[in-house]
Amino acid sequence: MSETNPYGFTTTILHNDRRKPVEQGSLHKPVHTSVAFGYGDARQLAAVFQGREPGFRYGRQGNPTVAALEDKISKMEDGVGTLCFATGMGAIGALFQALLKSGDHVVSSSFLFGNTNSLWQTVAGQGVAVDFVDATDAAKVEAALRPDTRIVFVETIANPRTQVADLARIGQLCRERGILYVVDNTMTTPWLFRPRAVGAGLVVNSLTKSIGGHGIALGGALTDTGLFDWSAYPNIAANFRKQAPANQGLAQLRAKALRDFGAALGPEAAHHIAVGAETLALRMERTCANALALARMLEADPRVAAVHYPGLASHPQHALVGSLFRSGGSLLSFELVDEIDPFDYLNRLKLGIPASNLGDTRTLVIPVAHTIFFEMGAERRASMGIAESLIRVSVGIEDTEDLLADFRQALAS
Ligand SMILES: *Cc1c(COP(=O)(O)O)cnc(C)c1O
Repeated sequence: MSETNPYGFTTTILHNDRRKPVEQGSLHKPVHTSVAFGYGDARQLAAVFQGREPGFRYGRQGNPTVAALEDKISKMEDGVGTLCFATGMGAIGALFQALLKSGDHVVSSSFLFGNTNSLWQTVAGQGVAVDFVDATDAAKVEAALRPDTRIVFVETIANPRTQVADLARIGQLCRERGILYVVDNTMTTPWLFRPRAVGAGLVVNSLTKSIGGHGIALGGALTDTGLFDWSAYPNIAANFRKQAPANQGLAQLRAKALRDFGAALGPEAAHHIAVGAETLALRMERTCANALALARMLEADPRVAAVHYPGLASHPQHALVGSLFRSGGSLLSFELVDEIDPFDYLNRLKLGIPASNLGDTRTLVIPVAHTIFFEMGAERRASMGIAESLIRVSVGIEDTEDLLADFRQALAS
């Protein structure tokens, strides 16, 4: 994973807890449910509060079980530090809460997770200007940059249409202009791609999705890759300027977002996610192979009008995918010919479950225009390339032949 770690991705995650002293030699970091942490010496408590000694103060700002997960995610992303939040949106919202001020400008990909799109509309009403651009084209990002642009925000593979941002060129641009580059890696996960490789300063992961992987816990994370120079970021408060420049970003995020707004990840959820993370690579291999097989089968069928999957040669950014990601990912979307009603099709599936989540071990399907992207309206959907009949599939780890047979039988009405 790095020069100092001789082990591969999965070995590192499996053995990470035990490399530090763990109570009673537990192989898993125990679930610490305590909200408060007692100190035998009151002076030590004061030192912890003043940041002169490491330690936990109160559960909202940190917890040993959550810290063990943060350490694992830092290893996965090859980052210098990670902060966990109650949800992925908690992590993205922290950018606004801790790093942006009224009058700042953000350039965001227009191909976005629906709730992130909604969040940027919300902040636009609170003095932060957001421009949405087609991030598959770095020139469009460049054209949108202004002297007051603080953050460029992109996703790796956009949900549900699977557009792939021009990640490396945008990273180059941000590096040249000294702009904080934030990459939401949820769809690719650190197993398929590490945004640090393209110059991201902060990486977002919704832990609810593939990292947790079993659909039993919500969580989110922000990882500092160590590449961004926080000493040049205008919105660091004087209080945090006293810290080493490398720590300023996460220190301010921990205080101004996690502490002040309170979207803390609970220890039980952190434990579920940490257990799930152990099999991330194994699940991703299966799910990505399933997704490719399903995409190929659907593309070859005349009853399917269009298939969007980055692993297909027909995908507009297919070449980019090969150079950046380990595979095309676990998400695909498709449109049926007009004669087939998408709702009837979904109702004929026996394995694909109509549900709104991604990265579950089970295959989940959803008619996006009528559900998760309903609120934004037809015009914005069209601008994001979302057809009214689009079906999104979050491919699970079922046996490949079972999955293909199910999606095939549902085509024959
Ligand atoms: C789900 C998701 C989020 C938000 O995560 P939650 O844990 O549901 O809050 C953010 N970004 C992407 C790309 C997602 O898929």
